[in-house]
Parts: sequence; C-alpha cells; structure tokens
Amino acid sequence: MTVTVDQEKVLRIYAEAARTAHDRLTALDQLSGDGDFGDNLCAGLDGVEARLDEGFDQVPFTVAAQVFLDEVGGTSGPLMGLLFQEMGRALAAHGDGPEGWAAGVREGLAAIQRVGEAEPGDRTLVDALVPARDALDAGSGFADTARASLAGARATADIKARRGRASYLGERALGAPDPGAIGVALLFWSLARAAE
Ligand code: ADP
Ligand code: MG
Ligand code: MG
Repeated sequence: MTVTVDQEKVLRIYAEAARTAHDRLTALDQLSGDGDFGDNLCAGLDGVEARLDEGFDQVPFTVAAQVFLDEVGGTSGPLMGLLFQEMGRALAAHGDGPEGWAAGVREGLAAIQRVGEAEPGDRTLVDALVPARDALDAGSGFADTARASLAGARATADIKARRGRASYLGERALGAPDPGAIGVALLFWSLARAAE
C-alpha cells in the first residue's frame, strides 16, 4: 500500500504548528539573529492559508512557494520559497506518495544550497533538511523522517554559525538551536502528523 499525504493538510498543520511555536522561534532568533524568524514563518504560513482558502488551481506547495517568494522577508522567506517550489514541482510530477515527497525534499535542498551556499554543519536550516532528505531517500517512514530532522535541528545548538546573521555573533548563540532548523523540523513533524 502506498501512503499518500495530502499537501493542503500538511501546510495547514504546519501553519498551526508555527503559530504554536512562534514565541519560541522568536526567542531563538533573538539569541542568534534579529528576532524576526517566528514572524517571517508565521506571516508566510498565514498567507498560505489565506490563499488556500480562496481556492487554487496549482498544487498547494506551489501556492505556498508563490506566497513565500513574493511576500516573505528575511533570509528564510526566499529559501523556504525555493524549498516549497521544488516540492510542488516534484509532487506534481510524482504524486503525493513517498517518491514525490523524497524527490521534493532532495530538489528543494539542492536549490537552497545552490543559492545560500550553506553546507551541513554551518548552523542553518540545511542541518534539518539533510537528515530528512537522507531518511526519505532511504525509504524511512514520515515519523522517522521527522525524528531525524528534529535531531539534526537540535544538534545545531552545539555548532558555531558560519552563515547568516548568527555568524556575526561567534559563540554567543551556542547552547540554543538554530531557529530556521527548528522551523524546518516542524515541517517534517507536520508531514508525519498529516500522514497518520
Ligand atoms: P534574517 O537572518 O535575514 O532575519 P530569518 O530570521 O528569516 O532571516 O531566517 C534566519 C534563518 O535562515 C537562520 O536560522 C538559518 O536557518 C537560515 N539561513 C541563514 N542563512 C542561510 C543560508 N545561507 N543557507 C540556508 N539557510 C540560511
Ligand atoms: Mg531573523
Ligand atoms: Mg531579519
């Protein structure tokens, strides 16, 4: 049996999860950046929900990509927009089963690294995407994929940033995880929840 996961359901769970985590994400970005990551992610996902409410004729992740690429600021806005764009493209091509999600994350991560040039271990959202990509490529289920992503995100607490604003702070942010990585781990948590 092939598990398919409804894209709209994933995005709506993600929006709710981001609202719940907003203050924590803000606090993390206050420690390592300028404090706007929670606002950026929540504003983007609220905008995605509003667009989905209006009705749409493209796959939901492509709708999400348009909102993030056109309307969301910060470093994370365009990068998340790229991720969603590649996910939308792959899901439209392969369907909403494991192969579509795996291909989307693989292509989305590649696009983010082409543009942002972050490597694993640079203390960015890439550190939550790489373990998710590897888990999906290995055929892991969505719950195990979410666990792998969260472990990668949590491990950023021990890394000194080499990219993004946090790199200006040296060791000040040590001990707290990267906000963007936690934000991306929430996406995979939402995917796992939607697949239940
Ligand atoms: P800004 O720093 O411009 O305020 P946000 O607060 O929206 O941007 O997003 C910050 C997050 O962006 C960081 O926590 C990190 O995960 C991510 N990030 C920063 N630079 C890069 C990069 N070059 N590649 C991938 N992710 C990055
Ligand atoms: Mg910020
Ligand atoms: Mg900012």
